[in-house]
Amino acid sequence: MEAISYERASDVAGAIRSAQQPGTAFIGGGTNLLDLMKGGVARPVRLVDITHIRGLDSVDALPNGGLRIGALVRNSDAANHATVRSRYPLLTQALLAGASAQLRNMATVGGNLMQRTRCNYFYDPAFARCNKREPGSGCAAIDGHTRMHAILGASPQCIAVNPSDMSVALAALDAVVRVNGPHGERTIAFGDFHRLPGDRPDLDTTLRPGELITSVDLPPPLYSDHAYYLKVRDRASYAFALVSVAAALQMDRGTIRSARIALGGVAHRPWRANEAEQMLAGHALNDANLQAAAAAALRDARPQRDNAFKIQLAQRSIVRALKEAAQQPGGVA
Ligand code: SF4
Repeated sequence: MEAISYERASDVAGAIRSAQQPGTAFIGGGTNLLDLMKGGVARPVRLVDITHIRGLDSVDALPNGGLRIGALVRNSDAANHATVRSRYPLLTQALLAGASAQLRNMATVGGNLMQRTRCNYFYDPAFARCNKREPGSGCAAIDGHTRMHAILGASPQCIAVNPSDMSVALAALDAVVRVNGPHGERTIAFGDFHRLPGDRPDLDTTLRPGELITSVDLPPPLYSDHAYYLKVRDRASYAFALVSVAAALQMDRGTIRSARIALGGVAHRPWRANEAEQMLAGHALNDANLQAAAAAALRDARPQRDNAFKIQLAQRSIVRALKEAAQQPGGVA
């Protein structure tokens, strides 16, 4: 048994100070970290409980018309917040597609951003090779079972995917992550928050040592009326995505004024389909245009041995999600 010390932080500054000691981990809802600790994958020597820090558990309007969601807001509270439901329905849909009701009641927004891949080889230390768990050890997945793994942005060091549904919606919505750390506050554009694996798959994010997420800021809502989160998975609930699509549109009758498309289940981070978005802007919403955009989104896909099916699945999911988004009445009832 390994000794772990526990400390309860009462404010952000205290939490950051405590995190200066090597081997410290912040704990919020703990829904992922405790699993990792029980499995011997994460081995912090010190836990700093951040759940009693005041001011990080509220949802507040921003002066620019956007919305600030505190890092300690529970996933279920974020999903069901009246403003999120009416102005950011894509986020509500994505949150409610994730995990189970019990987990959503515990898990925090900040923790959701930090959850780690569900690659089976990462979770089982019986597999010695995992560059994410033990840098330099190799990758057991690459010549293993790869049905759930990446088709975009992978590297020879790691082919894992990010498991978060919430993050796919936040990528499409151009959210900003606010963090505080030993060198002060800063903001990180959502597209820069999660990393591709490259030659450092042990690093999931661009957070610096000792930094604490304090909120996720949403820009003014431009996609309240036409948004849809489609998650394709092996069973109807409590399963990670094979492929997911966060689709949002601004429509002018039958013409797409602008489009936002992000994919989940395909890469080490939520995958924004920028080229597809540009192809759709200013064009009619019809099958030919949607299919051309979907093909562009997957042009660079490189499947693993067991998951070539994800390419067509993702293309079809993009088309369907965009059609559903166009038909949405706005908000979540
Ligand atoms: Fe580890 Fe990544 Fe390989 Fe999975 S895919 S075994 S997480 S290095």
